[in-house]
Amino acid sequence: MRAMLLAAQRTPLHEADLPQPTPGPGEVLLRVRACGVCRTDLHVCDGDLPRPKLPLVLGHEIVGTVVARGEGAERFAVGARVGVPWLGRTCGVCPYCRSGRENLCDNPSFTGYTLDGGYAEFARADERYCFAMPEGYGDAEAAPLLCAGLIGYRSLALAGDARRLGIYGFGAAAHIVAQVARHQGRQVYAFTRPGDEAAQTFALSLGVVWAGGSDAPPPEQLDAAILFAPVGALVPAALKVLVKGGVVVCGGIHMSDIPAFPYRLLWEERVVRSVANLTRRDGEEFLALAPRVPVRAEVETFALADANEALGRLRAGRVRGAAVLLTGAAEK
Ligand SMILES: [Zn+2]
Ligand SMILES: [Zn+2]
Repeated sequence: MRAMLLAAQRTPLHEADLPQPTPGPGEVLLRVRACGVCRTDLHVCDGDLPRPKLPLVLGHEIVGTVVARGEGAERFAVGARVGVPWLGRTCGVCPYCRSGRENLCDNPSFTGYTLDGGYAEFARADERYCFAMPEGYGDAEAAPLLCAGLIGYRSLALAGDARRLGIYGFGAAAHIVAQVARHQGRQVYAFTRPGDEAAQTFALSLGVVWAGGSDAPPPEQLDAAILFAPVGALVPAALKVLVKGGVVVCGGIHMSDIPAFPYRLLWEERVVRSVANLTRRDGEEFLALAPRVPVRAEVETFALADANEALGRLRAGRVRGAAVLLTGAAEK
């Protein structure tokens, strides 16, 4: 099969001809139709996340068709369209798994990081961690739901019942979260890179009440802020615009160092917290909610062989919505 392979961190992907994977017990083999390109992929490429499987097939927003099933795999029929997220497998026995917090598992496997992912024509996955994909979404449009959507949804849940919600970094996750937040009756304030008028116009087109640069004060204080931009300096910037008791949710897996800031920014019970991974329950909830909003993901598609270009565009902040790789098997 054709795949885009990461041989070593801090090197470009290269096109490779790999043997088609064989599904093990409890696994499904998927013909990949579409695979989203996530900022986490950049962090794996760039060496921000340590010790990936190498060589590695990146990609953890996989939409594919079941073409074979390993021993005992019965959950999905051959021909079913399923999604594979970042959480590839958990141990099931650690204190976190046993208390409904499998996102914090002590011994997890992650798709496109410690397991091969979806920048390829075929992928295998543990069927217990796959999702049935909602109808009404084309393959390319469905892919970003699997990480941008899921992690965005978990981040939004951790923002509590905030009515005035700031979102810093208006990319794939933000443009989905903004739609869900509006559906829930919240007001969204979008913060972009200073001067990025294209991103601000995009945010306004999705119904946010205000859009501006991350250095600009919003017109009123906010109840919570979600940070999708991996920029530590945004943590004190966001704390500054929160009401008492407000929460800053850091939605990414990696962030540059957070600069020192005066305690008075945290005082009055403001909170800074991170979001780690997802649980299968997050996925089931979000994928049931998405068609009811309805969430419409805006995507820019690339051929599988152009994965490096997609990653470069994402790094430069030049993707409107979400970037998605197509393998040639996608349907609208
Ligand atoms: Zn991701
Ligand atoms: Zn565990």
